[in-house]
Amino acid sequence: MDIFISSRISTHWLEKLSPYFEHIDHYEWSEKGLLSPEDFRDRSKNAHVIITESDMISNETLLQNPNLFAIADFRGTVINIDVKLATELGIVIMNTPGRNADAVADLTIAFMIMASRKVIPAIKAMEAGLWTKEGKYWMYNTHQGYDLPGKTIGLIGLGAIGKLVAERLAGFKTRIIGYDPYVKKDEIIKYGIELVSKEDVFRQSDFVSLHLPLNNETKGIYGLKELSLMKSSAYLINTSRAAVFIESELIDFLKSGKIAGAAIDVYHTEPLDANYPLFHIPNVICTPHIGGATLDVVNHQCEIGVNSLIQFLEGKTPSNIINPAALEKSREKFNKCRSK
Ligand code: NAD
Repeated sequence: MDIFISSRISTHWLEKLSPYFEHIDHYEWSEKGLLSPEDFRDRSKNAHVIITESDMISNETLLQNPNLFAIADFRGTVINIDVKLATELGIVIMNTPGRNADAVADLTIAFMIMASRKVIPAIKAMEAGLWTKEGKYWMYNTHQGYDLPGKTIGLIGLGAIGKLVAERLAGFKTRIIGYDPYVKKDEIIKYGIELVSKEDVFRQSDFVSLHLPLNNETKGIYGLKELSLMKSSAYLINTSRAAVFIESELIDFLKSGKIAGAAIDVYHTEPLDANYPLFHIPNVICTPHIGGATLDVVNHQCEIGVNSLIQFLEGKTPSNIINPAALEKSREKFNKCRSK
């Protein structure tokens, strides 16, 4: 049996896979760059199993490879494969939910501290030689911020990341309020989160942090109306997806200084050029979509994705499968290939 791997994967996890495959072809995208869809199709054309992470898997890749019966997609949300087509073809797809949830939760907490303590403007002023001005002790006064204890943190979306942010905040003695139309009170009470309306999250919070998915329901769900509810001393944090917010309204609001600031990791167009308006607004922290970019994520995604794949190869139902309707047909393909 052949496997084509285009994701980051450590030797430990390659060794775990080796008893199941005669031939392992590993292309490391983070070192060599992503393959074009055509190169990906050609390189994977004999594979029975694919492990991928950042590639867009074309329909040709699925259609032109009759051997293919499983894809382990090292992503939380599978947006890179035509799931309906894969299901029709008997290709089972396994995902890796929460693979980078710790990483994003860490960055969210860092954003709260960086924003409330004016870390970026303080560093920039110091680097520009502005420690003192006219002989006065100026830096200390100009960059006074706020402590986190006693503040209200509002979380929109209480899934893998939202819950981990709440867990981390327990040590900061904050009040945590949250909104998620799909969670039950019993499920989130242990995280110390008080469920309130979405309007109250925006109205009451000192930090509003977005952790909801992007889908047809959430696209452009927030904008001027919600920003207008926020306190003038509050910060907005978005590490989720840019399109949940109406960008022009957010930019106008931040430019006119009606809230204290924002910290943003995700954008409507990526990559951005140096003229992007949010770069030039004081008290806005922008990072280049690095929420999930830690080396530890490689191990997390392998642990979740390789274990699911091994479960499938050993005849069990994988823990993380997004198209169970494909299971029967993919097993037939798998058994046919083993009997050859
Ligand atoms: P998740 O699926 O575990 O949780 C999402 C939560 O949002 C769920 O509990 C769901 O019920 C809730 N939700 C759905 N619709 C909602 C709505 N209209 N209002 C409020 N809540 C709603 O997802 P996650 O792993 O916690 O990821 C959260 C977000 O973070 C996603 O948008 C994901 O794309 C993003 N993300 C960003 C990075 C990054 O690099 N910045 C990395 C990983 C994930």
